[in-house]
Amino acid sequence: MKHTKVKDLLNGTKTLQEVNAKGWVRTFRNNQFIALNDGSTINNIQCVVDFENTPDETLRRVTTGAAVSVTGTLIESKGAGQNVEIQVSKLEILGDSDAEKFPIQPKNKPSLDFLRENAHLRVRTNMFGAIMRVRSVLSYAVHSYFQEKGFVYVNTPIITGSDAEGAGEMFKVTALPFDNTPRTEDGKVNYKEDFFEKETNLTVSGQLEGETYAMALGQIYTFGPTFRAENSNTSRHLAEFWMIEPEVAFNDLDDNMDLAEDFIQYVIKYALDKCQDDLKFLETRLLDEEKSKPQAERSEMALLEKLNFVLENNFKRVSYTEAIDILRDSTPNKKKKFQYIINEWGADLQSEHERYLVEKHFKCPVILFDYPANIKAFYMRLNDNTEPGRETVRAMDILFPGIGEIVGGSEREERYDVLIEKMKALEIDEEELSWYLDTRRFGSATHSGFGLGFERLVLFVTGMTNIRDVIPFPRTPGNAEF
Ligand code: ATP
Ligand code: MG
Ligand code: MG
Ligand code: MG
Repeated sequence: MKHTKVKDLLNGTKTLQEVNAKGWVRTFRNNQFIALNDGSTINNIQCVVDFENTPDETLRRVTTGAAVSVTGTLIESKGAGQNVEIQVSKLEILGDSDAEKFPIQPKNKPSLDFLRENAHLRVRTNMFGAIMRVRSVLSYAVHSYFQEKGFVYVNTPIITGSDAEGAGEMFKVTALPFDNTPRTEDGKVNYKEDFFEKETNLTVSGQLEGETYAMALGQIYTFGPTFRAENSNTSRHLAEFWMIEPEVAFNDLDDNMDLAEDFIQYVIKYALDKCQDDLKFLETRLLDEEKSKPQAERSEMALLEKLNFVLENNFKRVSYTEAIDILRDSTPNKKKKFQYIINEWGADLQSEHERYLVEKHFKCPVILFDYPANIKAFYMRLNDNTEPGRETVRAMDILFPGIGEIVGGSEREERYDVLIEKMKALEIDEEELSWYLDTRRFGSATHSGFGLGFERLVLFVTGMTNIRDVIPFPRTPGNAEF
């Protein structure tokens, strides 16, 4: 008999039929009640074992984590919190799980730290099951949004010669054998030291390549892994993360902000519609956690309320200059609200400032725009009519509560001469980026785009607080074990 997914059994349309379910035991109570989960939903199905007619040996092997197959009749359940259960007539153990050794025992309430050390098993908890299903639905929503709008999905290269951000956070790519075995003259080791005949690295952003495609296909997006050798451990940075990067020809900075806001609202709504059970579960878990915090530190909104708030309210658009004034006014001399005090126009905001603007001042998502040119990347469009010494670029960052920056984007410098001048000033090799400059040489036009860190989005939607908990196998300094 073909097994039916637990999710489909729980909707109750098969009541009184003979069914088969396969999954993993979450708990086994009173030698009779198996809570079975197969990953299709956060909810377990209760399986009532006929323990009098089941061999003791089989019952003994029903342990947390074991894989089992249950066959029986789906009946209405009298138990609270479930509509149906399986009255089991045949119980088979498919794979044992040694109760002494299986580390993910619900009764031990494993900590997030412990679970991170067991990244390959943590997905067997309700929490990680929920997070990973939400992540998957959000991925689909990303494609759904852009495809509905006629964007072309472009796969930009993972191995590249460019450092789009100029931040020097690149991982080098080399074809050398790990042990650096010297190559014999007769060519026994078939590696070429200089495989690409130039320095290459793992991509930090697909933007530059994406721009070249936008300048032919009109609207494109990338959605792929990016790599940054972040030199510190924060709860918002990974060395390997997924980035969504749309790029649109003939769009200026305002269009870019509109696109980003609309996109974020669409994907959040999509998750709210499709992941109700998982999000409700995560909300309850968070509320439990909040109870242990002092009143003042508790968040004002529960998860679903927070997500709906983002859908129902426009993001506040604020220029960098206004933001600096707000931050300055909020820190009169003696009050030490921030570790790092901003008192000069031109300074880059730290995440404590971003979070202050979002969480304390505006109390809603914020789009900061028109940043000082010298703290942003070379490719951003210089604003016309800016004061000398106070040049700004048409850049925007979207800041979210609990997270800080979630999006970085800009209108791109479409003027060849201005771009060249900027590259010269920053000592960026024109030869190296000659291919990029071709977009400005041949048919240049206004265009803009942004990068959204997918894991930061998943963080926000799931209400988790550490980015390591929203990607299956997190890569951070010193951590690539799995
Ligand atoms: P941050 O200021 O947080 O370091 P950034 O300004 O360096 O981010 P961008 O180059 O603007 O990042 O990249 C676009 C987006 O990619 C960011 O807004 C963020 O959502 C995401 N992002 C950047 N670096 C990381 C990282 N190391 N891990 C996860 N997401 C990241
Ligand atoms: Mg960074
Ligand atoms: Mg930043
Ligand atoms: Mg940025």
